[in-house]
Amino acid sequence: MQLMENSTSLQDLSEEVRGGQTRAEDLMTSIYDRIESHDSVLNVYRSRLKRESALQKACAVDQRAASGEKLGPLAGIPVSIKDNICIRDPELNGGCASKILDEYPSPYDAHVVEKLKAADAIIIGKTNMDEFAMGSSTENSAYAPTLNPWDHGRVPGGSSGGGAVSVASGMALLALGSDTGGSVRQPASMCGVTGVKPSYGTVSRYGLVAYGSSLDQIGCLAKSADDCSYALEVIQGHDPRDSTSSKETLLESHGDSEIRGRRFCLPEAYLDPELVDAEVIETIREAESVLLKEGAVIEKRSLDFLSYVIPTYYILAFAEASSNLGRFDGIRYGVRKDTETNLKSLYSQSRSSGFGREVQRRIMLGTFVLSSGYYDQFYGRATRVRASMEKKIGKLFEEFDFILGPVSPFPAFSLKEKSEDPLAMYLADLCSVLPNLTRCPAISIPGKPTPSGLPVGIQMMGRRFEDPLLLATAKAMQQHLQYHQLTP
Ligand code: GLN
Repeated sequence: MQLMENSTSLQDLSEEVRGGQTRAEDLMTSIYDRIESHDSVLNVYRSRLKRESALQKACAVDQRAASGEKLGPLAGIPVSIKDNICIRDPELNGGCASKILDEYPSPYDAHVVEKLKAADAIIIGKTNMDEFAMGSSTENSAYAPTLNPWDHGRVPGGSSGGGAVSVASGMALLALGSDTGGSVRQPASMCGVTGVKPSYGTVSRYGLVAYGSSLDQIGCLAKSADDCSYALEVIQGHDPRDSTSSKETLLESHGDSEIRGRRFCLPEAYLDPELVDAEVIETIREAESVLLKEGAVIEKRSLDFLSYVIPTYYILAFAEASSNLGRFDGIRYGVRKDTETNLKSLYSQSRSSGFGREVQRRIMLGTFVLSSGYYDQFYGRATRVRASMEKKIGKLFEEFDFILGPVSPFPAFSLKEKSEDPLAMYLADLCSVLPNLTRCPAISIPGKPTPSGLPVGIQMMGRRFEDPLLLATAKAMQQHLQYHQLTP
């Protein structure tokens, strides 16, 4: 795929738009040219603005710049939004890549959407995803999967696959996704872009359709850690409409940092060939040697709790999902099957026809782990294991600044390779769920690709609310790695 190389940072680009050196209209034209030549194959957007509407918005930004109006920090930047984030716009109906929200018109904007609009970004469309963000490949979309731009026979990762591909293929300059157990970082890793999940509570979840509320966090996907950091500064901040929104502000999130003297923990399990592909281990080893060369300290540790992260995550995520998805009943929300005569069959017909297989599986398992008689055995135990992990991670972070590792145990896999085997799919999250369980920030930056040219991400996880340090260190690391220059 031949794409325009765009290495200008979001900050510089929007500054150029504000100063009139770059026209938002030209930027939008080049984005729409690419959408029109690639989206019918890659299937990135679930809904998007008509070309004329997008160009009209861009021209309005140019006019305001020309008249000397003070514009926001993302002036004229074309942004894609995951389909589970609410946008009030009749051209962007539908939601969560689910049939149950077919044509659903959101009556309001999510907090992050308000923030982006106030920053004069231009939201161009909603991106494809695994239905209700449940999956690791974007194949669970109720419509069609998004394809990996590096190899059309492979998945882009999930669940924010559409968002990652929008950035990788130049169909947006910034994408917002949601990350409950890795859904921003894992597709970033498989598509060769940068993706960050901030600390839980940093970005308001108001207007994000809930999956696992204690794990969900909105994050950014862009070409570099620098761009992610710049965008995060715009969307973060306290919001009284989300009771878990933190009052801590991320000060100076756009700073610089040194690698020298930073302490990294490298869990042994992340280099275990039984768990992680050899090519991915090779990428982590290369990252390790770059960090050592730049003066970092790296110590390997065996972390016993890593073998519990998948079961703990999936019990909690399913339980929360079964409760959160109760509202889609064909009455309060969702497509209604109203051929039925009684309430019970209206519910069951609406939900059975509206939800896909994986969503139904999770609702049933989640309801089971919450049911009386089993609650303590599963859900109660998982919450205790999670609390103990948080304690252990807290202790580990007294010794280390970051935990280093892969994002996914393997590079992008083939379409249909795991879609019939839910357990194999769940194992894709082996390295990505820990930051969600412990509410810490984590980032995926592109590392050394596989010999056949597939992208592989490097994950760095930091202390909760030390997102600025994590981002600044990732930015420094990226300057030594240079892989973010690659385009498919
Ligand atoms: N793959 C994980 C799941 O299916 C994570 C998804 C996510 O982060 N939204 O639950």
